[in-house]
Amino acid sequence: MSEKIERIKTLILGSGPAGYTAAIYAARADLKPIMYTGMEPGGQLTTTTEVDNFPGYPEGIDGPTMMVQLQQQAERFGTEVRIGMATSVDFSDEIGGIHKVTIDDAKVVEAETVIISTGATAKYLGIPSEQRLRGGGVSACAVCDGFFYKGQDVAIVGGGDTAAEEASYLANICRKVTMLVRKDHMRASKAMQHRVNSLENIELRYNSEVDEVLGEQVVEGLRIVNNQTGEKDEIAITGFFVAIGHKPNTDIFVGQLEMDDTGYLITHGKSTKTSKPGVFASGDVQDKEYRQAVTAAGTGCMAALDAERYLATIEAPEEVS
Ligand SMILES: Cc1cc2nc3c(=O)[nH]c(=O)nc-3n(C[C@H](O)[C@H](O)[C@H](O)COP(=O)(O)OP(=O)(O)OC[C@H]3O[C@@H](n4cnc5c(N)ncnc54)[C@H](O)[C@@H]3O)c2cc1C
Repeated sequence: MSEKIERIKTLILGSGPAGYTAAIYAARADLKPIMYTGMEPGGQLTTTTEVDNFPGYPEGIDGPTMMVQLQQQAERFGTEVRIGMATSVDFSDEIGGIHKVTIDDAKVVEAETVIISTGATAKYLGIPSEQRLRGGGVSACAVCDGFFYKGQDVAIVGGGDTAAEEASYLANICRKVTMLVRKDHMRASKAMQHRVNSLENIELRYNSEVDEVLGEQVVEGLRIVNNQTGEKDEIAITGFFVAIGHKPNTDIFVGQLEMDDTGYLITHGKSTKTSKPGVFASGDVQDKEYRQAVTAAGTGCMAALDAERYLATIEAPEEVS
């Protein structure tokens, strides 16, 4: 590695709603933030055409446009946005210590504070028809996209708590929800199973897997295979929801920061503080509960305020009570 070292006040990793909101606040607080966008500039919302639930857009907005506007807002106050990916980190244990982050295996950035907003990636089944129809009726977020299928028939795949939660959410909006569970039972908690079973418009199909999502431009149906008998049948639907889990983008923080057993970063109390002083986490990377743009943006704001307060304590400790 030809190592070039740069020393800065605030480094932001990730360019989704959390990262850009952190950048807006950090830049306005004169922390001179530098952001590395990662491999998906703009984050998850760049993969969706309609965002109808972010406050302030009465007509809705398409995801890529919203993210360009957030970038412009962050740059207006002086955020430097760079293309690049953090490939390893060496965080200090000391209050006031310097954190080292390697970018693209080539350059080291030394930062007094780091805001991690690297998000989480929805898992998909990986079959070609599902990938082809992403944005054409295939979605990994029922809370985000369920509304577009109001009064229609949809299907959801997954057997955990999130799938059960999302199936119940869809049942309130849609005419019928077919829930496909790969095993002969659900992994969801008993309470969630009870909720799903109590909703008359949810049809549960066990030992069932998706053979193919049907439709050319948009979802028109599903071919389902029974993994015990090999029997196949088709159902007509307009929306297909995948709820088989998310993977937080935290591999490079293993051994550096506290995580839960599924890899989400743990933040402390009502703050964005991680297990290392001066390192903060915001957005989906630390939130497996809500995973929405507005909640990500909210915690991005919190992370910048936490970073500003942390820097104030190390720069003028005697003034802090
Ligand atoms: C199809 C779809 C539709 C959705 N629709 C809606 C909706 O309508 N309304 C809503 O509120 N929410 C919606 N969501 C959820 C919403 O997109 C997320 O909750 C939100 O984007 C999370 O923001 P974030 O900033 O935490 O992370 P993300 O948006 O996931 O961004 C993560 C960022 O981190 C970067 N990154 C990752 N690893 C690294 C690294 N090592 N170094 C540097 N950068 C890195 C990535 O490149 C990316 O820029 C949708 C999600 C999907 C998938």
